[in-house]
Amino acid sequence: MNKIRQTAKRVYASVLANPVKAAKITAVALFGCICMVYMCYMCTFTAVTVAYADGERIGVVDSADVFAPVMQASNDASLITYPPAKAPSITFEVKLERNSEALSQKQIYEKVYGIATEGYREMFGLYVDGRFAAANESIDVLSKVVKTVEDTVKAQGEGVSITSSLEIKKIYCTGEYAHGEERILSLLSGGISYTDDTDEVVLDIFLSDDADKSFAPDISASNSSSDISTSVDVQAQTKYITVNEDVPFATVYEETEKYFEGVYVKKSDGKNGSVTVLYEIKYENGTEISRTAIERTMTDAPVDKVVYMGIKEKPKTASTGAFIWPLQKGTYIISSRFGPRDMGSRTYHYGLDMAANKGVTIMAADGGLVIAAYTHNSYGIHVIVQHDDGTKTLYAHMSKCSVSEGDRVYQGQKLGEVGTTGFSTGNHLHFEVIINDRTKVDPEKYLPER
Ligand SMILES: [Zn+2]
Repeated sequence: MNKIRQTAKRVYASVLANPVKAAKITAVALFGCICMVYMCYMCTFTAVTVAYADGERIGVVDSADVFAPVMQASNDASLITYPPAKAPSITFEVKLERNSEALSQKQIYEKVYGIATEGYREMFGLYVDGRFAAANESIDVLSKVVKTVEDTVKAQGEGVSITSSLEIKKIYCTGEYAHGEERILSLLSGGISYTDDTDEVVLDIFLSDDADKSFAPDISASNSSSDISTSVDVQAQTKYITVNEDVPFATVYEETEKYFEGVYVKKSDGKNGSVTVLYEIKYENGTEISRTAIERTMTDAPVDKVVYMGIKEKPKTASTGAFIWPLQKGTYIISSRFGPRDMGSRTYHYGLDMAANKGVTIMAADGGLVIAAYTHNSYGIHVIVQHDDGTKTLYAHMSKCSVSEGDRVYQGQKLGEVGTTGFSTGNHLHFEVIINDRTKVDPEKYLPER
């Protein structure tokens, strides 16, 4: 022990005797200490992801989890603000920081909520049927407006009531939507409507056109995509974007006895909705390699198109729209077709002749209304049926008629029997098809193949 103390004394004495040596040793010792402190200090730094909302630092985040609270905060903020608060633009930066703990979802929510509602003042909003009308810092001013409206309604007389709901809500608003009592009253206009069954008079308060314009939402920015974040990485890069996408409306059918089956009538138009989709896009060396939808927020629900679908049973006598042959297959032969007669005479044949035995049943080619059933000079005993689309069929030279004018007949119903009454040289059915009220056309073009 004594030996060590003596050695130390000797070294100490020699150092004191040599100031240059002393300075060198001190410098080396100091440098070593600084290095050690610096290394310890550096050890506490770690690479972290820092998130910014509209350029304002939110804090260190676990980047995978930041979007849910950001979207939620923006959503919530937009509900209590007018005009609705916009989602802040989120950007990321990778930094070396020490003692950095990632924010909890709750902390992210609170910070973003605070940023989103910046610039809004606490006010009271007047809502007409749920629609924002105007704001004022004093609830008294809005209460006075409501009272004035109610007094105006009362002044209309007994039995006049108000159907619009006027509501005052605490909101956060930007200054430009704050108006005085008179201006707010001028934005509201009223209309009286009478309800048929009760004779009740109601007053609807609605926003004036003026208000419509001043509060029309800015739609120019929709359908565009906004960059809400980028992350920093040299080779692989991840980008997040929000895109407003259309949600196509659906068509729903409402059954009704009002229309016959097979009939469809539009009741109301459909409207596309929209959804905000948050995409994660991965790039490698500048090329997009994947795009994944991470979250979808419905911003506007689609409205169904409603179509009435007739379910009322069609009457048997309704036209089917397709003809059948007026004589049973095998009971006739075609004896003369439609067109110019090939007989040397200059007559034109406006029908189709089917030769058959007397008494063979003649059937209605389609359902319809009997508009003629009498004896004619040339046609003899004949029947004309008018079908639902206006087309008419004529059956001539009958020996016997089984229907009367005004009867509704169904397809295939017996109209009469084959004969040779009128201008005819033998038993046959002369069959005509008449369109556009008076134009006689080739029946074979309207009949199915034999
Ligand atoms: Zn004929």
